[in-house]
Amino acid sequence: MKNASGGGKPLDAKDGLYLRAPIGGWLVSIADVPDPVFSGKILGDGFAIDPTDATLRAPFAGVVTSVHRAHHAVTLRAEDGAEVLMHIGLDTVALKGEGFTPHVAEGDRVKTGDPLISFDMDVISQLVRSLVVPVVLTNGERFALAVSAADREIAAGEAVATIAAQGEALSAPAGASDGAAITVKVRVADPNGIHARPAGLVAEAAKSGTAEVIIRLGDRKASAASPVGLMLLGAQHNDELTIEAKGADGAEVANRIAALLGGPELAQTSAPAAAPQAAVAPEVAVAPVSTATPELWGPGVAKTIDGTTASPGLAAGVSVRITSEDFEVSETGADVEQEIKELRAALKTAAADIGAKIAASKGQQAEILTAHLSFVEDPDLRDAAWTMIRDGKSAAYAWKTAIDRQVAALRKLGNPVLAERASDLEDVRRRVLAILLGVSGSATVLPDDAIIFAADLLPSQFADLDLTKVAGIVLAYAGPTAHVSILAASKGIPAIVAAGVGVLCVPDGQPVVLDADQATVRINPPATDLADIRAAVVRRRERLAANRAATQDDCYTADGKRIEVVANLGGPADVAVALESGAEGCGLMRSEFLFLNRTSAPSEDEQYAQYQAIADGLKGRPLIIRTLDAGADKDVPYANLPKEENPALGLRGVRMSLWQPELLRTQIRAILRVKPYGQCKILLPMIATLADLRDVRRVIDEEMKALARTAPIEVGIMVEVPSAALISKTLAAEADFLSVGTNDLAQYTLAIDRVNPRLAKQLDPFHPAVLRLIQLAVEGAKAHGRWVGVCGSLASFPLAAPVLIGLGVTELSATSGSIAEIKAMVRTLDIDKCKAVAEAALALESGEAVRRMLAQSWPEV
Ligand code: PEP
Ligand code: MG
Repeated sequence: MKNASGGGKPLDAKDGLYLRAPIGGWLVSIADVPDPVFSGKILGDGFAIDPTDATLRAPFAGVVTSVHRAHHAVTLRAEDGAEVLMHIGLDTVALKGEGFTPHVAEGDRVKTGDPLISFDMDVISQLVRSLVVPVVLTNGERFALAVSAADREIAAGEAVATIAAQGEALSAPAGASDGAAITVKVRVADPNGIHARPAGLVAEAAKSGTAEVIIRLGDRKASAASPVGLMLLGAQHNDELTIEAKGADGAEVANRIAALLGGPELAQTSAPAAAPQAAVAPEVAVAPVSTATPELWGPGVAKTIDGTTASPGLAAGVSVRITSEDFEVSETGADVEQEIKELRAALKTAAADIGAKIAASKGQQAEILTAHLSFVEDPDLRDAAWTMIRDGKSAAYAWKTAIDRQVAALRKLGNPVLAERASDLEDVRRRVLAILLGVSGSATVLPDDAIIFAADLLPSQFADLDLTKVAGIVLAYAGPTAHVSILAASKGIPAIVAAGVGVLCVPDGQPVVLDADQATVRINPPATDLADIRAAVVRRRERLAANRAATQDDCYTADGKRIEVVANLGGPADVAVALESGAEGCGLMRSEFLFLNRTSAPSEDEQYAQYQAIADGLKGRPLIIRTLDAGADKDVPYANLPKEENPALGLRGVRMSLWQPELLRTQIRAILRVKPYGQCKILLPMIATLADLRDVRRVIDEEMKALARTAPIEVGIMVEVPSAALISKTLAAEADFLSVGTNDLAQYTLAIDRVNPRLAKQLDPFHPAVLRLIQLAVEGAKAHGRWVGVCGSLASFPLAAPVLIGLGVTELSATSGSIAEIKAMVRTLDIDKCKAVAEAALALESGEAVRRMLAQSWPEV
């Protein structure tokens, strides 16, 4: 791709500042720097100079904000806040300062042209692969960069680029008069802040009226109609927002938005025509994204990098780097009207394509596409693109640049949930560019057993990969809930994410071992290890194939104990895969998927149709439908949940249902109508007390009577709260069965928020404390002859089966992808051995120790 260049036009800094060449040499496009960290603009946009001088000088007057301890890189901040990183050479961090002489220290003030770092060209050029000096604007979310044409000689001090503060959409000061007629203050209720889903719903609400609506957070503001602008506010849970609406239906729209963001009873509305209030600057505890220089290394270097498991498994293969920039765009447009027409047409085609795909998809795929559609229609993105086209840019350049800025800004907010959504924006960029440039998706030609290394993978890039060649995926960014993680897990491809920019420095063709179970990737491991792992991977593949071949048989332990292995489902679309995988029924149908991402609850008939479709699809096999488990991380805006300090400890699960009994009644009626009677059972989430169970029982009994149904329905409780395990005997007296939700049980037992990425590793369902509560639950259930299943993620680990069966669990409800392996494992077990394993696990000191013990006993699993 060619650099953002001024196409030979003279630079004009207007109110901004000139960025001068910090060194003489050959000016190169940033996209041509042979390092994806720079060419992919991961650290920001800019340019590079292949130096002929040996002294790096200040490209503008400012303050030195950092000098790398290896003295090869320096950042400088201008008075207006623009910050520029200059990095001498590639791989030079490894020199640990050899050959560099810094002339400045952090905090020094410098004038344009002052020397910053000198270096010994002869020494350094012998030691590293390139001396090129990338010069990068690191806060592109606040400043716009225009770079002059590359591929020419340049003298130190010559103006190469201009930096200007961005438009006010991102940084207008609070209190700038908009003549707002109504002001509503609200606190963000969503535990993840304003991310894609709430942003999309707010934008939808904003567009439903005629009022012009602005939302402020501290000194930032965004148009309520722009999902991207809203995400860029960086609003976190509990932040105070000010909604300002101007227009005839201003009050109505503002209140609707306030209800979506924070619940209506907490929104305080000021008198109409009140002057807009300056919002209080929020105390946002967001860690800034590091702009630290990544370590680089050459071929043959052995490294181990840790990340977070996105999809478990083991793989051995060779590294293949994939960069997300596939398209070359020319910066300069032809005719303004023509470019606008082309971009309009491309956006229309993209929207139609996405719309058609939404109609043809379900569940998570449909959710992902709906977010993409809202980006295609985003007014802020479009406005930014129109402005650039009017300034003489091409349609492709304008669209690409408009999205790039927002992506950089989202990544720099330091909010992991929002950073994950940046890849959705990139996907939309790619889709529209493909239409504009008339190219189809770029399928990378992969070697066998490719382990993909990338900053991120867009869902459409993932779709382009030849998955028969992909052995594993390692991503610098993304998170375990990113769309690429969901897709990798659904295809059974081992993947780790959030592994840091170091993964981008792995050259192609290196031998790699990926142990996604342990969230570790080893580059250039010892040859003997590699051979062992390759052999283990082959054995594993053969074993999986054999397991799949035998998966349709019912499941018994080797000594004849019946263990039901059933599937967790999200809707009718999951049934076929579950049955193909060998599921003997459904142990957990998460009904909340029918309720999420909509503006009103599904009607009784709508729900009934879905439940009946699942029951029919299961062809008589058992179906356990869990009633709506909303609240906390599962947002159902129309339930109008109040804002709570700790929503995970508040109105969620069955408490929310009892607080909104009409939602519960409607759902119960829909479930009670499913035929044949007896196939379908009800499961209640988040039961903490006997009163919870009795209250729902009463509703069920009343609705049975109303429907004149006399055939009984089994009602089970989820054990997700320690209290439920502790009083399981009391609960089992009135519940027909118990199903342990280890995701929440681990959260509440270990006091670790399940959506906190920093503590994700410690949230371990194998922890002996969690296992001990499962033991208690089984003991209580046995006293009344009730059976106990596990439907939390622990059940999906084949290695957990011996422990759970040893504790007395007789049903495992797992993800479809793990069913064949679980069944194969169960068939090798006998009850005495399981009991011994469970007892040993309970006596261990940590979840890690339990996993280790199990991995030693079953090294091939
Ligand atoms: C659980 O908590 O383990 C569970 C199965 O419920 P969910 O993950 O849907 O909260
Ligand atoms: Mg749960």
